[in-house]
Amino acid sequence: MPTRAFAATSATSPLGPFTVTRREPTPRDVEIDILFCGVCHSDLHFARNEWGFTAYPVVPGHEILGRVKRVGKEVTRFKAGDIAAVGCLVDSCRTCSSCTRGLEQFCLGGPVFTYNGPDKHSGAMTFGGYSESVVVDEAFTLKVPANLDPARAAPLLCAGITTYSPLRKWGAAKGKKVGVVGLGGLGHMGVKFAHAFGAHTVLFTTSERKIADGKQLGADEVVISKNADAMAGHTGSFDMILDTVSADHDVNAYLSLLGLDGTMVMVGVPPNPQPVGVFNLLMPRRSLAGSLIGGIAETQEMLDFCGKHNIACDIELIRMQQINEAYDRMLKSDVKYRFVIDMASLKA
Ligand code: NAP
Ligand code: ZN
Ligand code: ZN
Repeated sequence: MPTRAFAATSATSPLGPFTVTRREPTPRDVEIDILFCGVCHSDLHFARNEWGFTAYPVVPGHEILGRVKRVGKEVTRFKAGDIAAVGCLVDSCRTCSSCTRGLEQFCLGGPVFTYNGPDKHSGAMTFGGYSESVVVDEAFTLKVPANLDPARAAPLLCAGITTYSPLRKWGAAKGKKVGVVGLGGLGHMGVKFAHAFGAHTVLFTTSERKIADGKQLGADEVVISKNADAMAGHTGSFDMILDTVSADHDVNAYLSLLGLDGTMVMVGVPPNPQPVGVFNLLMPRRSLAGSLIGGIAETQEMLDFCGKHNIACDIELIRMQQINEAYDRMLKSDVKYRFVIDMASLKA
């Protein structure tokens, strides 16, 4: 089925109109008319080939929320008219040791990402959510609690799960001191979740203009990371720090803030390697870790948690045609705190 979309055709060309072909739904597929798609910094890294492995043309978008149009005859959890969501994953082998533990993002056979992944059906690359519709296996389609605003729920599918999962795994909870570095799409959800889990939450930001927002989002303290004295006041005190920064920055400045057995978890992916001083790890036995989105079951758990606690993203709604301007603004940290595309603009 020919489907309207927006694509980048090279690292230097702006995104523009493009047509993709979506498959006819198989018996296990859900066809979704996309209502909203969040704009993740990974979309920008991919569109501009900042990680060096983009295959063009690329249709970004992995924070997808829409209305079910059709379902295959074996689909049991969705019917036409339902709200449904799709995150960063659309397939995996489903049998390896990672998949059977619900960690499809680490599938040993290679997870199929929502865009720029090898599509098991077409043999070509997958195309993401900057598009009017998508066809996805029911097993990778998620339920969105009815009390959440659909546009504000869309970015939970990446920004939400990418922060929820490591905060859970490394035990953000009452009695723990947790830092979140960077107040962007991921960071603002990291602050909301760390606060909701009961941790003493400290936001590190380069932007003085974000201090009030950081506190309002749930931070107990906000530290301007350029202020060396303010940073030094936290030396050796954190149980965990979640680093969401998308560009080169001084990782060592944060490692030194961890206490005994503290862990710094990288989720932001600067295109360049970031130097790490090993002494910063030895004393006092600190860890540096990474985390990638989350599995399907945990993504559903996160959505249900958000429904129960009425947590959603702070967004700026844009038209599809504003995407290039939105990327430029995202690079200037000028978004509160996630752009979401109103996909009606693509169909207009
Ligand atoms: P974003 O909205 O652009 O936020 C990034 C934040 O990083 C900015 O708001 C800014 O916060 C801070 N920052 C930017 N440039 C900086 C610099 N030069 N020095 C210090 N801080 C800087 O991006 P996002 O969508 O949250 O994504 C963040 C990163 O996570 C990206 O690299 C993305 O690819 C990656 N990501 C990873 C996963 C995963 O599974 N691991 C999933 C999704 C995204 P302040 O203004 O507060 O300083
Ligand atoms: Zn993302
Ligand atoms: Zn697998």
